[in-house]
Amino acid sequence: MTETVEKPIKASEMDPKFRQEISKMHGGEKVMRCFQCGTCTSDCPIARFSETYRPRQIIRMTQLGLRDRVLNSDTLWLCAACFTCTDRCPQDVEVASVIRVLRNLAAEKGIVPPVFKEEASSILESGYAYRIPELRLKKREVSGLPPLPKGNPESIGKTLRTISFLKCVEKKGT
Ligand code: SF4
Ligand code: SF4
Repeated sequence: MTETVEKPIKASEMDPKFRQEISKMHGGEKVMRCFQCGTCTSDCPIARFSETYRPRQIIRMTQLGLRDRVLNSDTLWLCAACFTCTDRCPQDVEVASVIRVLRNLAAEKGIVPPVFKEEASSILESGYAYRIPELRLKKREVSGLPPLPKGNPESIGKTLRTISFLKCVEKKGT
């Protein structure tokens, strides 16, 4: 995976079918309406703290058909899905949904940041996204706190299998 880079764009990287593909997916239908006003980026709480995360840029790369750049971009995974961009876009682009569509496509190719794979395997093992260290559990006990409620990984695993989640997480990036 790579940063959303400023490398010059080569014509050979552009795949016009990509934007058509995105436009046909639920949530991606209005991607071509974007006229690059930058409102999404200026109001995005993540862009405020990141030097590389720019939703406007992700939308433009999608319009240009830069499939590999977009799907391999680390920044794609920084979106917090707060929907501020969607609420404020003057063109009604549904930016957050476009980003979800792009992430789903990346995940189908096995391009998922290791931190999310780790979270997923923790959910499958324990029912919790975060593996609680033994030491912390012992501290709770010593402090007289009740045991934490048990997760239900069997039931979660069953649900996730039905939506191909496991296949995406287990697949190696291309
Ligand atoms: S706010 Fe909407 S129109 Fe403006 S750059 Fe973002 S997606 Fe494009
Ligand atoms: S949904 Fe994502 S891109 Fe949109 S404002 Fe929130 S963090 Fe930024």
